[in-house]
Amino acid sequence: MRIILVGPPGAGKGTQAESIKKKYDIAHISTGDILRANVKAGTELGKTAKQYMDAGNLVPDDLIIAMMEFRLQEPDTKNGFLLDGFPRTRRQAEALDELLERLGLSLDAVVELDVSDEVVVKRLSSRRVCRQCGEIYNTLTKPAGTEGVCGICGGEVIRRDDDKESVIRSRLSVFHEQTAPLIKYYRDKRLLVTVDASGAKDSIVKRLAGGLGSK
Ligand code: AMP
Repeated sequence: MRIILVGPPGAGKGTQAESIKKKYDIAHISTGDILRANVKAGTELGKTAKQYMDAGNLVPDDLIIAMMEFRLQEPDTKNGFLLDGFPRTRRQAEALDELLERLGLSLDAVVELDVSDEVVVKRLSSRRVCRQCGEIYNTLTKPAGTEGVCGICGGEVIRRDDDKESVIRSRLSVFHEQTAPLIKYYRDKRLLVTVDASGAKDSIVKRLAGGLGSK
């Protein structure tokens, strides 16, 4: 199975990706996670990417496309993959099409997680994440047991730099301008499955499973 997840920041791509990954036993590839790992490790890519990420802007296409060309040929993608956060621009989508064609592969579905800007701002401004193991918390719906301490690994629970409200608003406008047009791109290719991504996590998981079942 080869699937793309598209949706605004805070649509729940990471959470839904975990459930799809388990169900289909495919590689979960999150460009945001790869970039954050590079920032943490202090690589050249990480140093360049950080400036864009902190401002809520997209990292330049050439860097992302080169990174994904490499990642999509790693052995763990043999069974398929789930792309979370890529492609985010028309150029990235076209580069992905070219790469898949070269590899003799095709996509099975593009899942659009549909949610309003207001729900996104509410979700993201209360989102917290463990600096060490990446576990996601929420001050409203899933607080860390002890304030600021991860219940799983004891790491520090923080707010991502790009989850501040002003940055969330810029990330949303970047999404509407640059990524939302991909919805039509994939609808025209008859790959799109739209899932209502408001409400509780478990009901979204169910809706998504139902949507993918038709593919
Ligand atoms: P995410 O965790 O998917 O919200 O990504 C966090 C940040 O990483 C984004 O706001 C962008 O700055 C950068 N990023 C992630 N994926 C991409 C991509 N496909 N193209 C450009 N920038 C990206």
